Amino acid sequence: MVVEETGQLIMATSKKIPERNSLDTAICPLCGESNQCAMAADPEATVCWCEGVVFPEELLAQIPEIVVRKTCVCKNCLDKYHESINTTDLTS
Ligand SMILES: [Zn+2]
Repeated sequence: MVVEETGQLIMATSKKIPERNSLDTAICPLCGESNQCAMAADPEATVCWCEGVVFPEELLAQIPEIVVRKTCVCKNCLDKYHESINTTDLTS
């Protein structure tokens, strides 16, 4: 089958995301749980917990690049990441 509409190309690239709901900004791309992002719940929101934290590049590297700047990682996954760093630091 041939897709004749050229506009379909853009849609096809987003197929790479393994999410059930193509791009839900309220869902953590790592664990699939709600990321509690206030911006996702309300586009008018200006204050969110994710504003006060830094997402390490190593953590963002685990997420499909197309999602990184659109969807927040949830606090659970951020905490887990920090825990994993702390435990490796203890060995030194
Ligand atoms: Zn998560």
